[in-house]
Amino acid sequence: NVSFKYNIDDEYILENINLTIEKGSIIAITGESGSGKSTFVDLICGLIMPSEGSILLDKYKANLNNKFWKNKIGYVTQDYYISDGLLINNVAFGIDEIDINKKHAIKSLNDSKFPITSYQSIENFKLIEHGKNLSGGQRQRIAIARALYKNAEILIFDEATSALDTESERQVQLALDTMMKGKTSIVVAHRLSTIINADIIIVFKKGEIVEAGSH
Ligand code: ADP
Ligand code: MG
Repeated sequence: NVSFKYNIDDEYILENINLTIEKGSIIAITGESGSGKSTFVDLICGLIMPSEGSILLDKYKANLNNKFWKNKIGYVTQDYYISDGLLINNVAFGIDEIDINKKHAIKSLNDSKFPITSYQSIENFKLIEHGKNLSGGQRQRIAIARALYKNAEILIFDEATSALDTESERQVQLALDTMMKGKTSIVVAHRLSTIINADIIIVFKKGEIVEAGSH
């Protein structure tokens, strides 16, 4: 019974949301722009807290705003920070340079289908001005490669492949399908091809769930 508003004087952005997510299942969320999809996944990630109601893990009231929970989540959004320096360090974001597993970072980039021209080496590829030397598709694949590198138990994709063209999206989707096997995944998406494998499809409209169905 979760409701949420950003500011006390505002209207509710989400109202009376009830949903059970089974471990290991794939949940697809769709609905028009502004319907509350990103707000909903931010609640699951513990980036914001419910204004009313609660989120339970099994039967226990969860404080999702802690490191233990955040370490379990690989969150791919369209809104992410790219730092300057080596591409592979960006993939292992938040990890001390000395602890970075370069091989694993390169594999994650390859699995994200990060495009690179033949004269560049992925190992020495440098990012400048917060990734200004990257295309939109390359930036998005860094976000995906980060989740692959982290190998998190819970995966959340918020329109993660929407900046890609149809063919790139298909390729990246194959990598994501492999990555999602046996994991709990929440996928906010519009394209039917992205949500077709979901166990449950949820439709948001103006902050409410108007449809939840399995297929
Ligand atoms: P969706 O992801 O479905 O497009 P959002 O969850 O991003 O929808 O937004 C839902 C509503 O919440 C929108 O009306 C949006 O303007 C509002 N909103 C989103 N983020 C904030 C914020 N940080 N502060 C105030 N309002 C916000
Ligand atoms: Mg959104």
